[in-house]
Amino acid sequence: MAKTKYAKAVNDEIMEKMSLKNRYAMLNMNLGTVLNKKEMAFLQKVEKFCMKYEKEKNITHSMDEDMYEWCADFGKEGYITRAHNFKESCGIDYGDEWGMSLDFMRYLAIDQFDTQYAMGAGATVLAINPIFEHHDNVPVRQDALRDLVDGSGIGCILITEPERGSDAVHQLTTCTEQDDGSFLLNGDKIFNTNAPKSKWAVAYATAEKNNGNKMAQFLINTSWDGWNCERAYIPWVPKLWLGKEVLTNLRVPKEYVLGPVGKGREHLFEGLVPERIGIAYGAVSQCWGAVIHAGIYSNMRKQFDQVILNFQGVGFTLMDLWAKTSNITLGMLKFCESYDEKYEKFGGKIPPMIEQAMVASASQFKYQATSLTTEVCYEAANLMGGAGLGDNLMSHDLLGVSRIQEIVGGSRQIQQYVLQMAFRKMFKMI
Ligand SMILES: Cc1cc2nc3c(=O)[nH]c(=O)nc-3n(C[C@H](O)[C@H](O)[C@H](O)COP(=O)(O)OP(=O)(O)OC[C@H]3O[C@@H](n4cnc5c(N)ncnc54)[C@H](O)[C@@H]3O)c2cc1C
Repeated sequence: MAKTKYAKAVNDEIMEKMSLKNRYAMLNMNLGTVLNKKEMAFLQKVEKFCMKYEKEKNITHSMDEDMYEWCADFGKEGYITRAHNFKESCGIDYGDEWGMSLDFMRYLAIDQFDTQYAMGAGATVLAINPIFEHHDNVPVRQDALRDLVDGSGIGCILITEPERGSDAVHQLTTCTEQDDGSFLLNGDKIFNTNAPKSKWAVAYATAEKNNGNKMAQFLINTSWDGWNCERAYIPWVPKLWLGKEVLTNLRVPKEYVLGPVGKGREHLFEGLVPERIGIAYGAVSQCWGAVIHAGIYSNMRKQFDQVILNFQGVGFTLMDLWAKTSNITLGMLKFCESYDEKYEKFGGKIPPMIEQAMVASASQFKYQATSLTTEVCYEAANLMGGAGLGDNLMSHDLLGVSRIQEIVGGSRQIQQYVLQMAFRKMFKMI
């Protein structure tokens, strides 16, 4: 539970009730009717680990903790990602405990534990996904993949540049091929989550500035010469380390080229679907954290000699947030389960027509879930008065994280733009 060097504002009785164990109990009661046996069992398994870990390591979730120190321990348990099984790619076998639905469960549990940590680990997954798709059995890539999946190394993804944000396909960072097949990278990147703490980065660059058809994708070891990184700071998420990088003649050997010139844009878009789904289920997880905090608090906090939940202004507002959170969870779960079914049915290669429909769904969920989390986390904290905003409870942390979700992974308007194009494409098919 959050501890603070500043004043105690919330009484002991409420602080105790707000334990991770009780918050998980509330979450599980809510999901009991909709999760299947396997999902519930996995959710509880991750929850059990988080409770034990919080206690053993005496984690307080204060803003001065270094959450990056936890990655290796979560990695050992296989809790960095469960979106794939890594047996064939790098020897990490999750048996049948993997897939999008179980990864959603993993995120739900970890986000209740520490929402900024869940987000940081999520950025490592953005580096994992493209290496998983394009390791091509090249040993150095498989080694990097193992490092990231088992938590021994942290990862980041470098798309955004100081002058190219939403317009990610007209990049200014260049890649110049050398006689031995290696590339020299030159240019600036910014707002790359985890970058200052990362061992591995997946970066995009182009053989010709502003030409999306000439983009390529690279795996970089951040110890290489030419990697210069300083911290970029987002005050809403003080525990998260983002980077601004200046790449100066950074040489990427041939074996580390994940996508050659001409393939970069395709690889970029292929990575955006899982990224957007991941952000969406992160946002849904934050909504649960906020509703549960406000739910416990408003059942205990008394004003005018009554628990505040009984005042309609509080109770009905909370019920509205609860209903919206429950409903989007159902939609999200249905999407994840159906994705898993298709993945299995088509042996891991989802046909392009279905993949295309997934692009729209990913943007729809990203758009709505991140908008909902801004509402739910703010309104839930608001229902808790000063205690919701202060540092004794984790509602303030959820409030901070929820502020950035609409921008990360493509802004609200960009999701709408993607949807508009997808709808037009659909129309042209009839
Ligand atoms: C906390 C955080 C973590 C991040 N992590 C990463 C990361 O790990 N890796 C990475 O590469 N990047 C990362 N980013 C960068 C993020 O992806 C970009 O900030 C985002 O894509 C928006 O780009 P921008 O900031 O340059 O805004 P701009 O593109 O300049 O957009 C400014 C405004 O203009 C609007 N706009 C732009 N184009 C259009 C259009 N065509 N139609 C309508 N509206 C438009 C946008 O919606 C926005 O409101 C992160 C950002 C944050 C804040």
